[in-house]
Amino acid sequence: MRTSILAVGTELLFGQTVNTNAAFLSDKLNHMGFDVMYHFVVGDNPDRLREKLAEAFSDTDLVLLTGGLGPTQDDLTKEIVADFMGAELYRDEKVIEDLKAFFERHGRQMSENNIKQAYLPVGCTPLYNASGTAPGFALEKDGKIAICFPGPPREMKWLWENGAKQYLEGFMEKKMFYRVIRTIGRGESDLEMDLMPLIDGQTDPTIATYAKEGECTLRVASQRDTMEEAEKAVEEMIARIEGIAGEYIYSYDDEELNEVVVRLLKEKGLTISAAESCTGGKFAAAITDVAGASEVIQYSYVTYSCQAKTDMVGVPAEMIEEFSVVSPEVAEAMAAGARAASGADIGIAITGYAGPEADPGREAGEAYIGYAYGDKTGAVEVRTSRNFRKWNRNYFVLRMLRTVYKLIK
Ligand code: ATP
Ligand code: MG
Repeated sequence: MRTSILAVGTELLFGQTVNTNAAFLSDKLNHMGFDVMYHFVVGDNPDRLREKLAEAFSDTDLVLLTGGLGPTQDDLTKEIVADFMGAELYRDEKVIEDLKAFFERHGRQMSENNIKQAYLPVGCTPLYNASGTAPGFALEKDGKIAICFPGPPREMKWLWENGAKQYLEGFMEKKMFYRVIRTIGRGESDLEMDLMPLIDGQTDPTIATYAKEGECTLRVASQRDTMEEAEKAVEEMIARIEGIAGEYIYSYDDEELNEVVVRLLKEKGLTISAAESCTGGKFAAAITDVAGASEVIQYSYVTYSCQAKTDMVGVPAEMIEEFSVVSPEVAEAMAAGARAASGADIGIAITGYAGPEADPGREAGEAYIGYAYGDKTGAVEVRTSRNFRKWNRNYFVLRMLRTVYKLIK
């Protein structure tokens, strides 16, 4: 179904409030298979609101509105939507009861203008709001549907989960199944080129790629008559994607890489220790971000200077002299040293240039990740070709996690 989102509120036009409601609803609607065609934003002005509502309905059949359902004079969304769709308002006694209970619970006096919120369009499906005072509603007429939500994101989300979603499920002609695959190690455009034979000319399942900070996410979705058919189509497509890009995939269920790594380490009963130079402890932070990390990490080292690399994880000073501190040899020695010093099963290490500066003749974004696990020791090279320090450091951590993932998988 062709869909628009119309956010109402002058504060959105002033830039004081970011239109996160539209982002939230778009994401949910797309996942359900509704085609979101437009986002509109309009101030608290009745004429312009009416105009945009007409425009939205001229090209789409479902319009979701947020904001302007409150008790004050400038809250006009409900009145205008009802009028536009030719519905009178009625006083909903359940809302009155809810309002009374709400004010009693909060020990506050209900003011006269709160009663305004109890009026809803005749023939609507009320969306009673247990997370606030203003109810939402869905109103259908001649194949056109308007759904109104209050503006506060917490209330809007609550009404989505507890009413609006269920209401819209009744309008889904097909069943939708999707999975979100996460990859790292190949840029979005390269990955898209790799998968072009699958993407090109495909209408179902669809493959959508999104790039995010050094990672790339693939959303594989299918809409079929039954859930089983949709699921089967998605699984078949994922098997084909795996055949082409399997080496970059780390999750089939939209998990974060650090979560996947910690889960794997736990499953295998392994512990890890890191020696970090240019990431300054960010790898250890990523591991300890995951609840229950104490099972897998006990010691970890920030060895920023050459001296620290020698003192804490035993990298010979002559080795640093001979190969330079940013080298595969030093990275490997750091990893082996972290493992030995901590007694962990796995040692991982990084030495590199986060940028924006690098040593003469070297480039920001160059780094070496060392690893030591069982009899597997070595180093992998990373080159980001970027001199954004923050970006590089985050990306280096992802690549360290990826290295661990590959080692133990
Ligand atoms: P209230 O009863 O609080 O007045 P309302 O339905 O009238 O609810 P608004 O007055 O339009 O909603 O907005 C209330 C608050 O909700 C705004 O101050 C803003 O912080 C937030 N809000 C409104 N619209 C959006 C939006 N599209 N995205 C994110 N936040 C929003
Ligand atoms: Mg308001």
